[in-house]
Amino acid sequence: MASSLETLVKILNLEQRKGYKNDAVIGGFGRFARHWAREAHGQAKTDAHKRLVDDIADDLRRYDDLNTPEERADLIDTLLEKATGQIDRQDAEVAAPPPPKVEEPAPAETPEPSPAPPEPEVEAEAEPEPPPPSRQPQAREREKAPRQPRPKRQRKPRPEPARSLRERRGYAGGEFEISAPATEENLSVPVSTLSGVGAKRAQLLERLGVTTVRDLLYLFPHRHEDFSRLKTIDRLEIGEEVTVVGTVGRVSARKTKRGQPMLEAIISDGTDALSLTWFNQPWLSKQIYEGRQIVVSGKVDQYLGRLTMTSPEWEPMERDWLHTGRVVPVYPLTKDLSARVMRQIMKRVSDEWPRRLADYLPLDMRERLDMMDLGDAVAQVHFPDSWDDLQAARARLAFDELFILHLSMVMRRQDWQADAIETIGVEDAWLETFQQALPYQLTGAQQRALNDIRQDLESGVPMNRLLQGDVGSGKTVVAAAAIAMALSAGKQAALMAPTGILCEQHYAALNDLLSRVPGTDGQPPAVRLLTGSLSDAERQEVYAGLADGSIQVVVGTHALIQAGVEFADLGLAVIDEQHRFGVHQRGTLRGKAAGGNPHLLVMTATPIPRTLALTIHADLDLTLLDEMPPGRQAVETRVLGTRERERSYAFLRSQIEQGRQAFIVHPLVEESENIEARSAVAEFERLQKEVFADLRLGLLHGQMKPAEKEQAMAQFYDGEIDILVSTTVIEVGIDVPNASVMMVENANRFGLAQLHQLRGRVGRGEHRSYCLLISDADGGDPLGVNGGSQRLAALEETNDGFRLAEIDWEMRGAGDLLGTRQSGFVGRIHFANLMDPHLVETVQREVDTLVKTDPHLQAPQHAPLAERVARVQARQDPAHGDIS
Ligand code: ADP
Ligand code: MG
Repeated sequence: MASSLETLVKILNLEQRKGYKNDAVIGGFGRFARHWAREAHGQAKTDAHKRLVDDIADDLRRYDDLNTPEERADLIDTLLEKATGQIDRQDAEVAAPPPPKVEEPAPAETPEPSPAPPEPEVEAEAEPEPPPPSRQPQAREREKAPRQPRPKRQRKPRPEPARSLRERRGYAGGEFEISAPATEENLSVPVSTLSGVGAKRAQLLERLGVTTVRDLLYLFPHRHEDFSRLKTIDRLEIGEEVTVVGTVGRVSARKTKRGQPMLEAIISDGTDALSLTWFNQPWLSKQIYEGRQIVVSGKVDQYLGRLTMTSPEWEPMERDWLHTGRVVPVYPLTKDLSARVMRQIMKRVSDEWPRRLADYLPLDMRERLDMMDLGDAVAQVHFPDSWDDLQAARARLAFDELFILHLSMVMRRQDWQADAIETIGVEDAWLETFQQALPYQLTGAQQRALNDIRQDLESGVPMNRLLQGDVGSGKTVVAAAAIAMALSAGKQAALMAPTGILCEQHYAALNDLLSRVPGTDGQPPAVRLLTGSLSDAERQEVYAGLADGSIQVVVGTHALIQAGVEFADLGLAVIDEQHRFGVHQRGTLRGKAAGGNPHLLVMTATPIPRTLALTIHADLDLTLLDEMPPGRQAVETRVLGTRERERSYAFLRSQIEQGRQAFIVHPLVEESENIEARSAVAEFERLQKEVFADLRLGLLHGQMKPAEKEQAMAQFYDGEIDILVSTTVIEVGIDVPNASVMMVENANRFGLAQLHQLRGRVGRGEHRSYCLLISDADGGDPLGVNGGSQRLAALEETNDGFRLAEIDWEMRGAGDLLGTRQSGFVGRIHFANLMDPHLVETVQREVDTLVKTDPHLQAPQHAPLAERVARVQARQDPAHGDIS
């Protein structure tokens, strides 16, 4: 795990230097978290490491939501502590006691109603080290003893429909019976009204996005730990997570060599003894005293022949076993809000408040789907009575999440289509001429796409269409046709793409394609580029031309949505690689049309399985370009271990000797562009000096000046460069027919869909092409059974991007497809990993039925649902109310 931690530290340092603007990593920390966690998980050796990874990843995700530099600085400090602490420990690599968990800071407020209030600093008692209890023989016995099979979980019978868990537990009918209608307003009270939550804690919770009780109820744990199995000490096994009850024997408070306060206690339960260690919790010595009965939960380890637990959760025996003895929730935390305090607050809230949640799903639907009711689900997802209850609760909440999302999209679409818009008529003859003018015959899929678009433009309702097509399926010409249609009606058009390079390529393609169809005045349309690389004067000129209508088509990056950009008459906005833009950015571009909504065409090469796309983009019409232009051959793909790198170089060389060109992509995933650039430069130098000294190598990375990039690309395109060493900036946009090899380093760090896109950069000409994926997932074992390479093997088998997306979906849930910040779904989808095809289908069916019977949710029984949808829509985009 050391290497991913080191990467992390570099990035954290960079973020510090850059002043906490969340720009050390492209796409922000939230997005980075996902990639990082995946990689770090792969490297984690122990469960404790994995937990640390999860913990850090949670923090990273939270970073996106912090608003002030102070909060961000705090979080970065915390993260650096966690990461460097772990690196230190790994470096030490000595037979030391198990690494202490990252310590929870002392709770800021009186943390819990325990007999002894926490004390600041307690002086170390110079007590001698307790002799190890004589347990050696038992230890050996235990090791010999056959492993206890894990008791099989008894599946509870499914609850009968419409009978709530509360009733099943037998406390319905009393004063808790929901007789008066549950009022949602109650849930909007600030968290500070809860007992145990004062101003200070309310402030801490706000950092987690929680201000009201409802927010708190919906702050779901990201995982649970099963402490529900109690064991006697003599039956403990090393490495397992368990809960033990025992009596405290000898206690000693000391300082570690590094000066940390440390408390050691021995507990025994009559069968054996267990040694417990806590670090940095000096107040514990008042709470853990000889003779006290306590319950501890944690991971069993062994040190010098003794059974140990480091920093276990613990509780006095007499209290409700809140943190222990059950399935325990693990919450997102923030500095100064410890896991214990958080759980206490949540326990109180989830005991009391969920039953006030009005279940907005209609009863007949709940019965039909045999679902747990909302209040129970929310209560159980926090403090489940069992794993089964937890699963049922998660299923219900995952359904809700997707259902509400889909429903609100469908309703949004209804609103959106209520807007009238000038029709743009397209003559058959015009379309015929356009097609005749093209350098090639359109594929059937492209023709279908043109027909869809034409119908949209003629419909009098704003087009809102998603064009999904694999890399190389020919989306550009479809966009060009749509733009030409808008131009023929005297409208302006804008095409927005995420990178300068891509814009430049689109600019060239549009100039070519549009010059083939004369405008109304017989002249080719005026197409201009608007990217960050323009000088001030050039930019002003473009602004002026767009405002007075003399520029008809503009191709640009984010520069297009800046304040100065105004259009005389924007009729069509096209967005390429739409997943790379946030919801707001799309809305902003659309808002540039003076007189209301323009038509909108969004394009993506990121394939999302059709059913999923139809659900999460239900406000968009979907057109699939599921047919490749003729003459494309499959790119032959091989997954190789690092030991085969030399052979790959030899293969590359042989291709170049045959007159071809090659890419070597050297990615550090999409972390800091800076770091990525530096490593690409180093790799470039190494390759040029040591491997391909006699060949012409070029370099391309995101930190180069636009002119330099352009030059490198132009040289590659013109064949002046044999091998282009690059970061993932080439992922979108470069089209060089003579290139026949794509070699990707660190391939195992990528999703299949992204690799597929890289692969799409070759095989664009008539030459047989190859993709070599170097994976270090299996320590150089190319056919390793380890997840990394096995997953990549799918790329060897299929060239179908949609199929690969399906595999990503099957193997990693929708989280991977929706988890990017750019998808616009981060933070709104908690249960993405549960979103499987079956759930998606069910949701579609139910929404469909609902909307058919009550399109505007006006029936009284749908009022709570309408309210919920309104709330979701409002939160999605308070500024524009735009979720497309
Ligand atoms: P993408 O969908 O990845 O954006 P492009 O629009 O860049 O794909 O098209 C890829 C290549 O295919 C381009 O070189 C383009 O000129 C070519 N192309 C597009 N449509 C056709 C077609 N119908 N027949 C032949 N070549 C085509
Ligand atoms: Mg494209």
